[in-house]
Amino acid sequence: MRALLLYRLDLSGSASVDESIHPVDPRTPIVRATDLGVNRGDGVFETAVVRHGRPQALDSHLTRLARSAGLLELPAPRRELWRTAVRRAASAVSVPGVLHAGELASIKFVMTRGDEIDRGAPTGWVLGFAGTDPTAVRAAGTRVVVLDRGYRHDVMQTSPWLLQGAKTLAYAVNEAALREATRRGADDVIFVSGDGFVLEGPRSTLIARLDGELVTPPSEFGVLPGTTQADVFDGLADLSVRTAALAREDLDRADALWLCSSTRGAVPVRELDGGERTMDHALTTRMNALLDARED
Ligand code: PLP
Repeated sequence: MRALLLYRLDLSGSASVDESIHPVDPRTPIVRATDLGVNRGDGVFETAVVRHGRPQALDSHLTRLARSAGLLELPAPRRELWRTAVRRAASAVSVPGVLHAGELASIKFVMTRGDEIDRGAPTGWVLGFAGTDPTAVRAAGTRVVVLDRGYRHDVMQTSPWLLQGAKTLAYAVNEAALREATRRGADDVIFVSGDGFVLEGPRSTLIARLDGELVTPPSEFGVLPGTTQADVFDGLADLSVRTAALAREDLDRADALWLCSSTRGAVPVRELDGGERTMDHALTTRMNALLDARED
């Protein structure tokens, strides 16, 4: 990852949209040690990929940012401000010469609960960064292990304070799961609930093909509503697609699996818990073509 640009946002709400966006050098420290986002992971974020000079699926990302903020009881994000800042960042990183060969730009936008001592407005920023182009992993596929997340599938209803299904800044658990995957000789993870339902990856949404139908687990199970998976389902109008509960055994029964995310698109699973899986390269290519063609 390479930082390309940074905007500090004034979220006090009194200034105009333009006056609330402050470009700073990406190496500038803009967050205090007493910020609740830093010392408690108390905040929300989104990452949108940039193609054709635009942040893809921006409306869906803004809707999910607002949903996450609601689940954390944070102030509702000012949609027009975030939209303007993210679009501006996407155009700025799309100027020729900014990206090196093999890089793809993304915009990460973050809102924290603000400063623990000076209790005031939330802290916000927009970071443009260069990540790795996903072309290779889309073709090669990924090796996945199944890990127990430890919560039941109905955790959102029984224990909403656990914030499952919110995109919070607290990703230490997701990172730990990815390290466990590495220890087991894999690249990625599919979480299952403590009572055996398939959930999501630590940074992706699962799509499984079962009996000729593409299926993804419901967000009511405490998984993030994936913007990429939603656009794949919308774009494949001629195929049968469904949101439905999947049991752990369905992963073995499925004839193809994909992990979908903004930064990588649709990545086929080539190995599950050490067993080789078939990949549908033609459908993967079709999914990624429709994803890469999106504008905004
Ligand atoms: N689930 C989790 C936990 C994630 O972190 C992500 C990616 O950010 C996703 C799913 C996929 O979401 P999207 O397709 O909107 O990037």
